[in-house]
Amino acid sequence: MNNDIERVLYSQDDIKAACQRLGADITRDYAGKNPLFIGVLKGVIFFMTDLLRELDFLADIDFIDVSSYHGGTSSTGEITLVHDIDTDISGRDVIVVEDILDSGRTLAYLRDRLSERNPKSLKVCTLLDKPEGRVVEAKADYVGFNVPNEFLVGYGLDYIEYYRNLPYVGVLKPEVYAN
Ligand code: 5GP
Ligand code: MG
Ligand code: MG
Repeated sequence: MNNDIERVLYSQDDIKAACQRLGADITRDYAGKNPLFIGVLKGVIFFMTDLLRELDFLADIDFIDVSSYHGGTSSTGEITLVHDIDTDISGRDVIVVEDILDSGRTLAYLRDRLSERNPKSLKVCTLLDKPEGRVVEAKADYVGFNVPNEFLVGYGLDYIEYYRNLPYVGVLKPEVYAN
């Protein structure tokens, strides 16, 4: 385990099991459909690839990049669109894939931006959900784990761009971001 990590919350095996469960749920719910998966960069990269390989159908994939953090451990509240999708989503079944749902601002923003392009349906799958962090109303349709209100890193999640490629989700030692 990396020295900056206080404890591992979800191991590689835990995450794999969650991907298998979510992949099976989505495979069942979208039988006979051709949904487009929109991953929210950058935190989603590992979850997106692991989840999509658990599906029993061929998936269409795109990515969107929004930023709300600007480096710290708490959200600034202001969302900016860094990179938009290329795909026309009108009439499509869309599943937004997120690493973590916290204040809900990112998801609320994405729902607004994507809904106005008239998708046939719009659902959300997040690996991690931090319900205590909610500031605006936001709900995911598929959730891997409900997590405590702590700052997490690994498996895509960063602190100032570090720790993303840790293979597990862990709690960062508070002294790492205190100084
Ligand atoms: P929200 O807009 O719901 O507050 O936050 C969504 C984004 O904030 C996530 O996609 C992620 O980038 C970041 N975020 C929220 N909670 C955490 C956390 O515990 N750790 C890390 N590394 N990022 C987080
Ligand atoms: Mg995210
Ligand atoms: Mg981040």
